[in-house]
Amino acid sequence: MNLSEFNRVLRQVFLLPVIALLITAGALYLQVRGSNDTVRLIQNTDATIAQAALVGKLIADQESGLRGYQATHDDRFLSEFHQVEGSIQSELENLDLAIQADEDQRGNIEDLRNEYQNWHDAFALPIMATVRAGGTANDVTLNLYGKTLMDQVRQDVAAITRRAEKVRSARIEQWQHQVHNMIEALIAIALGMGVLIGLFTRSRLKSVSSAYRSSLEVLSRRAEELYQSEQKLRTTLVSIGDGVITCDADGRIQLMNPVACELTGWGQIEASYRMLEDVFRIVNQKTGEPVETPVAKVKRLRTVVGVGYDTALIRKDGSRILIADSGAPIRDQTDAIVGIVLVFRDITLERRTQETLLSNEKLAVAGRLAATIAHEIHNPLDAVSNLLYLMRTGATEEESKQFIEMAESELARVTQISRAMLGLYRESRAPVPVDLKEILEDILLLMEHRFHELNVSIETDLPSSVKVKAFPAELRQVFTNLVSNAAEASSPGGKIRIGAHTQIANGSANSGAVVFIQDNGAGIAEEARTQLFRPFFTTKGEQGTGLGLWVSRGIISKHGGSIEISSETDPAAHGTIVTVFLPEQPVIGTVSLPAPN
Ligand code: ADP
Ligand code: MG
Repeated sequence: MNLSEFNRVLRQVFLLPVIALLITAGALYLQVRGSNDTVRLIQNTDATIAQAALVGKLIADQESGLRGYQATHDDRFLSEFHQVEGSIQSELENLDLAIQADEDQRGNIEDLRNEYQNWHDAFALPIMATVRAGGTANDVTLNLYGKTLMDQVRQDVAAITRRAEKVRSARIEQWQHQVHNMIEALIAIALGMGVLIGLFTRSRLKSVSSAYRSSLEVLSRRAEELYQSEQKLRTTLVSIGDGVITCDADGRIQLMNPVACELTGWGQIEASYRMLEDVFRIVNQKTGEPVETPVAKVKRLRTVVGVGYDTALIRKDGSRILIADSGAPIRDQTDAIVGIVLVFRDITLERRTQETLLSNEKLAVAGRLAATIAHEIHNPLDAVSNLLYLMRTGATEEESKQFIEMAESELARVTQISRAMLGLYRESRAPVPVDLKEILEDILLLMEHRFHELNVSIETDLPSSVKVKAFPAELRQVFTNLVSNAAEASSPGGKIRIGAHTQIANGSANSGAVVFIQDNGAGIAEEARTQLFRPFFTTKGEQGTGLGLWVSRGIISKHGGSIEISSETDPAAHGTIVTVFLPEQPVIGTVSLPAPN
């Protein structure tokens, strides 16, 4: 049940009693109106009775006026008689009005009117005439006749009264009946409504309470799920191999997992509510300078952040470990940062391994070159010893001069080779200006024999002006790798093109030198392309280390440059071209070997 349904039920529960009350009030109104009508009819019969009494009284008054005149012959009684006569007629009219549509009463009134008229004309008028004529009005028969007529009139008045009273009592009975009915109806309506409201409210409340119960169930299920997922997260956090620290938005530590405790040397309880920078003290390994805390960095950048390459964590006991870490903001629904989670791991061993691998690769390159170099050096030395032999066995002075020049040039070549060889190992401490032409030519010189062996030809396009600042030995290592890869990929008779040119762009970061090494070998298979820069990826079996490209990319990245490989395996036009960009001014030290992935 949603909120609007709930409101509807509430409205219904409220509305029903109101409707019931309205119906009851309507019924009550009708009943009261009915009984009011009856009361009005009762009042009407009361008026009839009173009117009949009035008429009776007036007639009696007229009669007593007549008697007075009869007895005293005084005209004053006669005038009273006449006075009342007018009233009697008008009161009879009123009586007629009062009885309304009652036919019986109409008959009674008609009778009264006739009897009265009879008395008036047949008795009162003759008496008055007799008296006025000076005669006596004591005739017994006439007076008895007058009395009989008057009795008749009285009986008529009484009949009207009786009839009215009968009607009245019938109406009173009707009224009582109505009141009785009304009370009964009221009780019935009230009971009916009560039961109806009760049943209705019960059913509505039942549905509300069942909805309430089911929403309680949903809530408790959610709470249970929440609890379980929290437990899962907690377990994950505890069993995770990396150190995890969560902080509130101010950078106070809330939680540390066991690995974090082990790496920092701090206990979970003692670290709680401390500022992160007290527990997680990080410095640059090389310079010793403090590094910005991940909390500050996350707050500043409002996104996931990592730490610099050479970041060391100072543990509680003062010892240092190299770490890799990342910090991420924890946001609430309004996207505000409410905390920061920090994940870090000890990479001391990993770094050592990387360094070892790097030197291994150097050794491998040197090893592979050793045979070439021995051969390269052997040839000129052989030539020199041959020349010395010729000179010792009686050459002319002219010839000796020529032999010495030849020996000198052979020795110069040896020197050149040994210098190139040394260059592979000697490294300057800071980047120095490097002529790429020189480096590439040195490499080609050292590898001449190998090219010969593999039967590949070299074509170069190396203007002398291509210069960058770099670590020359490292660049030599890179290009030796790339050129040997090209040579090894080429089939006999293959051709390798090596070129370099300066690139001038707006920003100094985009200005520098581009070196490309192109071969017309078989190309790199689609599935191998994504793996080229992974350590130990090689298609050469025992012959390869799979470290060349990985190391090369590390070195190039360290110089702030980039390395790209595009390759084609189409039988009609196959080959690979490796392009290296080196910025004019290297940005050294931020990036080095990419992590093996
Ligand atoms: P390695 O030479 O010891 O195998 P690298 O890292 O130098 O290791 O090269 C990795 C792999 O990349 C090689 O084994 C090879 O399959 C592929 N590769 C590199 N350069 C080329 C190229 N010019 N042509 C074809 N394949 C290449
Ligand atoms: Mg290689």
